[in-house]
Amino acid sequence: MTRKILVTSALPYANGSIHLGHLVEYIQTDIWVRFQKMQGHQCHYVCADDTHGTPIMLRAQKEGIAPEQLIAKVWQEHYDDFAGFRIGFDNYYSTNTPETRHYADDIYLKLKQQGLIEVRAIEQYFDPVKEMFLPDRFIKGECPKCHAKDQYGDSCEACGAAYQPTDLIEPYSAVSGATPVRKSSDHYFFKLSDPRCRDFLKSWIAPPHVQFEAANKLNEWLEGGLSDWDISRDAPYFGFEIPDAPGKYYYVWLDAPIGYMGSFRNLCDKQGIDFDAYWDKLKAADAGTEVYHFIGKDILYFHALFWPAELQHAGYRTPSGVFAHGFLTVDGQKMSKSRGTFITAASYLKHLNPEHLRYYFAAKLNASMEDLDLNLDDFTARVNSDLIGKFVNIASRAAGFITKRFGGKLADGIANQALLDELQQAAAGIAGLYDAREYGKALREVMRLADLANQYVDEHKPWELAKQEGQEAKLHEVCSVSLNLFRLLTLYLKPVLPKLAADVEAFLNVPPLQWNDAQTLLLGHAINPYAHLMTRIDPKQVEAMIEENKESLQPAAQAHSPARHAEHQQHQTQGASPHPNPLPEGEGASVGAIAPLVSIDDFSKIDLRIARIVNAEHVAGADKLLQLTLDIGEGKTRNVFAGIKSAYDPEQLKGRLTVMVANLAPRKMKFGLSEGMVLAASGESPGLFILSPDEGAQPGMRVK
Ligand SMILES: [Zn+2]
Repeated sequence: MTRKILVTSALPYANGSIHLGHLVEYIQTDIWVRFQKMQGHQCHYVCADDTHGTPIMLRAQKEGIAPEQLIAKVWQEHYDDFAGFRIGFDNYYSTNTPETRHYADDIYLKLKQQGLIEVRAIEQYFDPVKEMFLPDRFIKGECPKCHAKDQYGDSCEACGAAYQPTDLIEPYSAVSGATPVRKSSDHYFFKLSDPRCRDFLKSWIAPPHVQFEAANKLNEWLEGGLSDWDISRDAPYFGFEIPDAPGKYYYVWLDAPIGYMGSFRNLCDKQGIDFDAYWDKLKAADAGTEVYHFIGKDILYFHALFWPAELQHAGYRTPSGVFAHGFLTVDGQKMSKSRGTFITAASYLKHLNPEHLRYYFAAKLNASMEDLDLNLDDFTARVNSDLIGKFVNIASRAAGFITKRFGGKLADGIANQALLDELQQAAAGIAGLYDAREYGKALREVMRLADLANQYVDEHKPWELAKQEGQEAKLHEVCSVSLNLFRLLTLYLKPVLPKLAADVEAFLNVPPLQWNDAQTLLLGHAINPYAHLMTRIDPKQVEAMIEENKESLQPAAQAHSPARHAEHQQHQTQGASPHPNPLPEGEGASVGAIAPLVSIDDFSKIDLRIARIVNAEHVAGADKLLQLTLDIGEGKTRNVFAGIKSAYDPEQLKGRLTVMVANLAPRKMKFGLSEGMVLAASGESPGLFILSPDEGAQPGMRVK
């Protein structure tokens, strides 16, 4: 029976880059979707950028562009990253679209008709300068527990304490630096505490809708009592205005997941698919369609409580399953910028083959919510041993003889099919494991079969048969068996390695492999000459990637960044290179590895100018910063905050020449606007050293 399946991955936020932590989910989902398609099922895979919210509005303001321009730019980056990892979305869309707005309004109005929307006044911090309510992450101040300065409104990065923004000592707005005031405003709530939601969820929360371990957790939450969900935010906000509530906008829960429907609607309109057969409660039941959401365990509460309750009471179908996965660690630890293990998708792609990561993640994935570790040494060893040593090797050892000795044609018949039978019979078991998201087990089985295939080649030694008189038929059979074994292994690996499989299909001269092709063999068939299929990982590639992702910790810059996603902070303070160890005298100490090459075009984007330090002052309340007034001959001066207080007395800087980045986007900090950056060298040992030009240089001269 042909299944009709809609699959989603969680929507990435349009204010940050895709990194390897995200990719666990997209790779997990993509493998499942590719597997279902190979089964001949109708499977649609949709996703979108989550585009709304205060962080996007503020970042666009900072960059001096419209939010629509910002989200278009980020969409393209995300799209390219996903394409690079061969995530085969049928539609990758945006939540800032008419389709998403339509379903958001429809769901909101139906919930309201049901009496499940309630308006309540709540008090929040308000920025009197920007005239806006501040999300927790945009309020900073002194931690009430450990008294660390410049901590976020919801938790302290120094001691880990969690608290309310109102608990902060001397709070300030990370947007304007102003002291926020408490102000009351009406907010819209979805009444998740309503007995109708509770009763529905009580029966809904169980396998197969959710995993066993998730069901336990969800039932705990349910027993503990569900709170109503705040679904609105006040203007100014980038999002959809609530139709009957001017100045109020849907907050994330009432538009982001509806982006799943918006993206699918868009696909339906393009391809003539019946949307209602998937989403209308009655029609979906008739059509027997299935909807699955792949998510991270951190958003389980929302996807398995709020979302089904919302759909149920708005007359839509509820998910057939919500599959939560764990988080990614690298070398057993949380991804870290200073260790270089906070690896972006784009930087991975510069150094390594995406299918190597797909294979490694798949080999470690199962149907549970356990965390998954990317051990970099194991990654290299495993990919090289499994994919190159065991898999690709089979083809490279047999193909040449077929081409040279048999005109490129496989044998018409095979006398001893015992091993081929064994591999063919494994198809159903491997399919069951993929369908159950037990990819690790599936790949262990495939590698067990690859070991058998290698044993076969080792026992029959085609390279020796080739030298012996009268062994032509035997040689032909052994090589034909080997390539048929290779074809079956390729088929079983295809959901994980789509590009490699396509290359093998071209080499074997066959149409795209489907799962039921496992029941046939290639006999009397002409293949193409073998071409190189995959290269080993050189550990140097991994090292280069890690070095590229290393960032020095720049406390002054990080402490003042209002960005919700830490990876998108700009760095306003100095730091000549990520890890420059100064050379201690008399020792051949190494400097940190040099960053990957950039083109002269990349370099020339950075406008470096000689600057005269007209004035330098301490900044009240700043531990690390000096305020510099710089002249680069523009007829006006620039204000720059530089984290060099530990190394310089302002008096010794006045009148000096140095080098500044003149075209860095200006950034608002707690103490004012910073309009550039001065360069300074630093390393593992203490000390900071700003640069000076040789005598004769004048303010404004370009440094290149
Ligand atoms: Zn603290």
